Amino acid sequence: MKQRYLDLKTQINNRATLIAVSKTVDSSRIEELIALGHTHFGENYVQESLAKWVSLKEKYAVKLHMIGPLQSNKAREAVMLYDMIQTLDRESLAIALAKAIEKQGKSPSLLIQVNIGEEPQKGGVLPSEADSFITTCQRDYGLKIEGLMCIPPADAAASPYFKQLKVIAERNGLKELSMGMSSDYIEAINEGATFVRVGSALFGAR
Ligand SMILES: *Cc1c(COP(=O)(O)O)cnc(C)c1O
Repeated sequence: MKQRYLDLKTQINNRATLIAVSKTVDSSRIEELIALGHTHFGENYVQESLAKWVSLKEKYAVKLHMIGPLQSNKAREAVMLYDMIQTLDRESLAIALAKAIEKQGKSPSLLIQVNIGEEPQKGGVLPSEADSFITTCQRDYGLKIEGLMCIPPADAAASPYFKQLKVIAERNGLKELSMGMSSDYIEAINEGATFVRVGSALFGAR
Protein backbone atom coordinates (compact mmCIF):
# COMPACT_ATOMS: atom_id res chain seq x y z
CA MET A 1 0.00 0.00 0.00
CA LYS A 2 2.80 2.43 0.82
CA GLN A 3 4.27 2.32 -2.67
CA ARG A 4 0.85 2.62 -4.29
CA TYR A 5 0.15 5.65 -2.12
CA LEU A 6 3.44 7.34 -2.93
CA ASP A 7 2.94 6.69 -6.66
CA LEU A 8 -0.57 8.09 -6.50
CA LYS A 9 0.62 11.21 -4.70
CA THR A 10 3.30 11.75 -7.33
CA GLN A 11 0.80 11.31 -10.15
CA ILE A 12 -1.74 13.68 -8.62
CA ASN A 13 1.02 16.13 -7.80
CA ASN A 14 -1.19 18.41 -5.67
CA ARG A 15 -3.54 19.17 -8.53
CA ALA A 16 -6.49 17.76 -6.53
CA THR A 17 -7.12 16.56 -2.98
CA LEU A 18 -6.87 12.79 -2.75
CA ILE A 19 -9.68 11.17 -0.77
CA ALA A 20 -8.71 7.64 0.26
CA VAL A 21 -11.93 5.64 0.05
CA SER A 22 -11.72 3.28 3.01
CA LYS A 23 -15.03 1.40 2.90
CA THR A 24 -14.46 -2.23 3.99
CA VAL A 25 -10.89 -1.30 5.00
CA ASP A 26 -10.17 -1.88 8.68
CA SER A 27 -8.81 0.70 11.11
CA SER A 28 -5.29 -0.72 11.26
CA ARG A 29 -4.82 -0.28 7.50
CA ILE A 30 -6.32 3.19 7.70
CA GLU A 31 -3.80 4.02 10.44
CA GLU A 32 -0.96 2.89 8.16
CA LEU A 33 -2.02 5.56 5.72
CA ILE A 34 -2.44 8.17 8.44
CA ALA A 35 1.10 7.36 9.55
CA LEU A 36 2.27 8.28 6.04
CA GLY A 37 0.73 11.71 6.57
CA HIS A 38 -2.55 11.18 4.74
CA THR A 39 -5.55 13.18 6.02
CA HIS A 40 -8.64 12.86 3.75
CA PHE A 41 -10.77 9.72 3.86
CA GLY A 42 -14.11 8.73 2.35
CA GLU A 43 -16.75 6.30 3.57
CA ASN A 44 -20.06 5.09 2.12
CA TYR A 45 -22.05 3.94 5.14
CA VAL A 46 -22.95 5.75 8.36
CA GLN A 47 -22.86 2.59 10.51
CA GLU A 48 -19.41 1.57 9.28
CA SER A 49 -18.18 5.15 9.67
CA LEU A 50 -19.36 5.32 13.29
CA ALA A 51 -17.70 2.00 14.09
CA LYS A 52 -14.33 3.01 12.69
CA TRP A 53 -14.08 6.78 12.79
CA VAL A 54 -15.38 7.96 16.16
CA SER A 55 -12.22 6.67 17.79
CA LEU A 56 -9.92 7.46 14.85
CA LYS A 57 -11.08 11.06 14.86
CA GLU A 58 -10.37 11.33 18.58
CA LYS A 59 -6.79 10.29 17.91
CA TYR A 60 -5.95 11.97 14.62
CA ALA A 61 -6.65 15.28 12.87
CA VAL A 62 -8.21 13.77 9.77
CA LYS A 63 -11.02 14.82 7.45
CA LEU A 64 -13.86 12.43 6.77
CA HIS A 65 -16.05 12.62 3.65
CA MET A 66 -19.44 10.96 3.23
CA ILE A 67 -19.60 9.70 -0.36
CA GLY A 68 -22.42 7.13 -0.13
CA PRO A 69 -26.21 7.51 -0.25
CA LEU A 70 -27.46 9.21 2.91
CA GLN A 71 -30.85 8.55 4.49
CA SER A 72 -32.56 11.60 5.95
CA ASN A 73 -32.97 9.83 9.30
CA LYS A 74 -29.16 9.62 9.56
CA ALA A 75 -28.66 13.36 9.05
CA ARG A 76 -27.97 14.00 12.74
CA GLU A 77 -25.19 11.40 12.89
CA ALA A 78 -23.84 12.56 9.54
CA VAL A 79 -23.53 16.18 10.66
CA MET A 80 -21.81 15.02 13.83
CA LEU A 81 -19.30 12.76 12.09
CA TYR A 82 -18.40 14.04 8.63
CA ASP A 83 -16.34 17.06 7.64
CA MET A 84 -17.86 16.98 4.18
CA ILE A 85 -21.07 15.39 2.87
CA GLN A 86 -20.87 14.89 -0.89
CA THR A 87 -24.21 13.22 -1.57
CA LEU A 88 -26.89 15.83 -0.98
CA ASP A 89 -29.42 15.06 -3.72
CA ARG A 90 -33.00 15.72 -2.58
CA GLU A 91 -35.06 18.23 -0.72
CA SER A 92 -35.98 15.93 2.19
CA LEU A 93 -32.28 15.47 2.90
CA ALA A 94 -31.61 19.21 2.60
CA ILE A 95 -34.32 19.82 5.22
CA ALA A 96 -32.92 17.16 7.56
CA LEU A 97 -29.36 18.45 7.21
CA ALA A 98 -30.40 22.08 7.76
CA LYS A 99 -32.19 21.05 10.96
CA ALA A 100 -29.22 19.04 12.26
CA ILE A 101 -26.79 21.83 11.39
CA GLU A 102 -28.85 24.36 13.30
CA LYS A 103 -29.21 22.10 16.33
CA GLN A 104 -25.55 21.11 16.53
CA GLY A 105 -24.08 24.48 15.61
CA LYS A 106 -21.66 22.57 13.43
CA SER A 107 -21.76 22.48 9.70
CA PRO A 108 -19.98 20.07 7.43
CA SER A 109 -19.05 21.22 3.94
CA LEU A 110 -21.69 20.17 1.42
CA LEU A 111 -21.54 18.99 -2.17
CA ILE A 112 -24.56 18.18 -4.30
CA GLN A 113 -24.44 14.86 -6.13
CA VAL A 114 -25.46 15.04 -9.78
CA ASN A 115 -26.61 11.90 -11.59
CA ILE A 116 -24.56 12.93 -14.57
CA GLY A 117 -25.30 9.87 -16.71
CA GLU A 118 -29.02 9.95 -15.79
CA GLU A 119 -28.82 6.32 -14.61
CA PRO A 120 -31.89 5.04 -12.73
CA GLN A 121 -29.84 3.01 -10.24
CA LYS A 122 -27.69 5.96 -9.14
CA GLY A 123 -28.34 8.75 -6.69
CA GLY A 124 -28.04 12.40 -7.55
CA VAL A 125 -30.18 15.13 -9.05
CA LEU A 126 -30.65 15.06 -12.79
CA PRO A 127 -28.45 17.53 -14.68
CA SER A 128 -31.55 19.38 -15.88
CA GLU A 129 -32.69 19.85 -12.27
CA ALA A 130 -29.32 20.75 -10.77
CA ASP A 131 -29.60 24.54 -11.05
CA SER A 132 -32.97 24.71 -9.33
CA PHE A 133 -31.94 22.24 -6.61
CA ILE A 134 -28.78 24.23 -5.87
CA THR A 135 -30.88 27.40 -5.54
CA THR A 136 -33.42 25.64 -3.31
CA CYS A 137 -30.69 24.41 -0.95
CA GLN A 138 -29.13 27.85 -0.73
CA ARG A 139 -32.19 30.09 -0.66
CA ASP A 140 -34.84 27.99 1.09
CA TYR A 141 -32.67 26.08 3.56
CA GLY A 142 -29.68 28.38 4.00
CA LEU A 143 -27.20 25.65 3.16
CA LYS A 144 -23.75 26.64 2.01
CA ILE A 145 -23.07 24.54 -1.08
CA GLU A 146 -19.41 24.32 -2.03
CA GLY A 147 -19.57 22.21 -5.16
CA LEU A 148 -20.71 19.12 -7.02
CA MET A 149 -19.96 15.42 -7.04
CA CYS A 150 -20.65 12.77 -9.69
CA ILE A 151 -20.11 9.11 -10.53
CA PRO A 152 -20.17 8.73 -14.33
CA PRO A 153 -21.49 5.57 -16.05
CA ALA A 154 -19.07 2.67 -15.72
CA ASP A 155 -19.16 1.61 -19.34
CA ALA A 156 -18.40 4.88 -21.13
CA ALA A 157 -15.55 7.38 -21.45
CA ALA A 158 -15.72 9.58 -18.36
CA SER A 159 -14.26 12.86 -19.63
CA PRO A 160 -17.43 14.18 -21.33
CA TYR A 161 -19.35 13.65 -18.07
CA PHE A 162 -16.64 15.39 -16.05
CA LYS A 163 -16.77 18.33 -18.48
CA GLN A 164 -20.54 18.52 -18.09
CA LEU A 165 -20.29 18.57 -14.29
CA LYS A 166 -17.81 21.42 -14.47
CA VAL A 167 -20.15 23.44 -16.70
CA ILE A 168 -22.98 23.06 -14.16
CA ALA A 169 -20.68 24.06 -11.29
CA GLU A 170 -19.33 27.10 -13.10
CA ARG A 171 -22.69 28.50 -14.10
CA ASN A 172 -23.77 28.21 -10.45
CA GLY A 173 -20.61 29.79 -9.06
CA LEU A 174 -19.50 26.60 -7.29
CA LYS A 175 -15.82 25.86 -6.85
CA GLU A 176 -15.38 22.26 -5.72
CA LEU A 177 -15.63 19.27 -8.05
CA SER A 178 -15.47 15.75 -6.61
CA MET A 179 -15.00 13.46 -9.58
CA GLY A 180 -12.72 10.60 -10.54
CA MET A 181 -12.20 7.19 -8.95
CA SER A 182 -9.54 4.47 -9.37
CA SER A 183 -10.26 3.97 -13.06
CA ASP A 184 -10.51 7.59 -14.15
CA TYR A 185 -8.86 9.95 -11.67
CA ILE A 186 -6.34 11.17 -14.24
CA GLU A 187 -9.10 12.18 -16.66
CA ALA A 188 -10.97 13.83 -13.78
CA ILE A 189 -7.95 15.89 -12.77
CA ASN A 190 -7.43 16.94 -16.37
CA GLU A 191 -11.05 18.14 -16.43
CA GLY A 192 -10.67 20.18 -13.26
CA ALA A 193 -11.44 17.88 -10.32
CA THR A 194 -10.61 19.42 -6.94
CA PHE A 195 -11.21 16.09 -5.14
CA VAL A 196 -10.60 12.57 -6.45
CA ARG A 197 -11.97 9.54 -4.59
CA VAL A 198 -9.68 6.54 -4.86
CA GLY A 199 -10.30 3.20 -3.18
CA SER A 200 -9.12 0.02 -4.88
CA ALA A 201 -6.12 1.60 -6.64
CA LEU A 202 -4.84 2.41 -3.16
CA PHE A 203 -6.02 -0.32 -0.80
CA GLY A 204 -6.35 -3.13 -3.36
CA ALA A 205 -9.51 -4.89 -4.59
CA ARG A 206 -12.45 -4.97 -2.17
C1 LIG B 1 -16.37 3.07 -3.63
C2 LIG B 1 -16.40 4.44 -4.18
C3 LIG B 1 -15.25 5.07 -4.69
C4 LIG B 1 -13.92 4.37 -4.83
O1 LIG B 1 -13.99 3.46 -5.87
P1 LIG B 1 -12.67 2.78 -6.49
O2 LIG B 1 -13.09 2.38 -7.85
O3 LIG B 1 -12.36 1.62 -5.60
O4 LIG B 1 -11.60 3.79 -6.49
C5 LIG B 1 -15.36 6.39 -5.10
N1 LIG B 1 -16.52 7.07 -5.05
C6 LIG B 1 -17.65 6.50 -4.58
C7 LIG B 1 -18.90 7.29 -4.54
C8 LIG B 1 -17.63 5.16 -4.14
O5 LIG B 1 -18.77 4.60 -3.70
